Amino acid sequence: ATRVVLASRPSGKPVAENFRLEAETVRDLAEGEVLLQILYLSLDPYMRGRMDDAKSYAKPVEIGGVMEGGTVARVLRTRNAAFDPGDIVLSHSGWQSHAISNGSDLRKLDPGQAPVTTALGVLGMPGFTAYAGLRNIGKPKAGETVVVAAASGAVGSAVGQIARIFGARVVGIAGGREKCDYLRDVLGFDAAVDHHSSDFATALAAACPQGIDVYFENVGGPVWSAVFPLLNDFARVPVCGLIAHYNEDSSVANSHDQLPAVMRAILRKSLTIRGFIQREFADQRSDFYREAGAWIAEGRLKHKEDIVVGLENAPEAFIGLLEGKNFGKLIVRVAS
Ligand code: NDP
Repeated sequence: ATRVVLASRPSGKPVAENFRLEAETVRDLAEGEVLLQILYLSLDPYMRGRMDDAKSYAKPVEIGGVMEGGTVARVLRTRNAAFDPGDIVLSHSGWQSHAISNGSDLRKLDPGQAPVTTALGVLGMPGFTAYAGLRNIGKPKAGETVVVAAASGAVGSAVGQIARIFGARVVGIAGGREKCDYLRDVLGFDAAVDHHSSDFATALAAACPQGIDVYFENVGGPVWSAVFPLLNDFARVPVCGLIAHYNEDSSVANSHDQLPAVMRAILRKSLTIRGFIQREFADQRSDFYREAGAWIAEGRLKHKEDIVVGLENAPEAFIGLLEGKNFGKLIVRVAS
């Protein structure tokens, strides 16, 4: 068996040396346990936070510890009556080829219902994040303008399509022409704007002639600066992620402090800006599986996967995720 551990903590961008591939031996099962063979590993932006020692909503990975992560696995051996060999399950086994579980953290998947990788993306945590942030905070109404960044990714692609299902006009922000074409031509977004282009702020304003009623924040940084002046009175901003800042050293203060101007506008325009971690809305997960499952079957909620082969390639793929090299939900195929 193999695993990828955190070798050292990054300063700024993670590099290959922060990770180490190790061999491991699998111990015998105790009563009640199952042995899992990991088939797919999800790579997600939150993993960057787990590499730091800073205070966060979740504990950091220890130095020498296995990198955390959502996985789809096959039950190889079982001493737990609830599981049979061959069962496919959603687990949180991290960056490794095999894992032992007592079963309490496993959810059985039905490969006949949907491809099992969707449990890591559109029908999993990222899809639910989109659904929960829109339903509870963004609350788009028909005819309103919804803007989402990192729009071709796992969360953003679901945000845009679900907002359209709710009747909104949707503008996506993504890096590069190919991703923007995909948003318009495949996902049916009303407009798409490339944040790498030199006239980004002007192009965004042109794509939002009625201003912005809901901005689903995945990014921060210069994208936020371009969005902020376009917010309408009573706009809602679900603050879901700030990926443009994940590689920053939080002890270094920004040279230009925009905060007072931002706070004045929050007051003057009666804005609602609210952060959330998807777990907060866990009681809505069964609604999500039902509704999102139906939307996928009807062809109204599409998804794209970016699959990398081999656990040893997980570090490089993860580093690329923080730079926009992934196109779609990033997943590692660990075994087949
Ligand atoms: P994605 O599949 O969207 O991949 C990340 C994308 O972010 C990249 O492809 C890139 O797209 C974009 N990006 C990276 N750096 C920058 C930058 N500096 N400026 C602008 N865009 C950038 O990832 P996810 O869909 O999994 O996650 C999206 C966001 O949602 C993240 O911020 C994540 O932390 C957050 N999240 C929050 C959750 C919660 O409970 N609050 C749960 C799950 C995710 P491009 O090439 O288009 O720029």
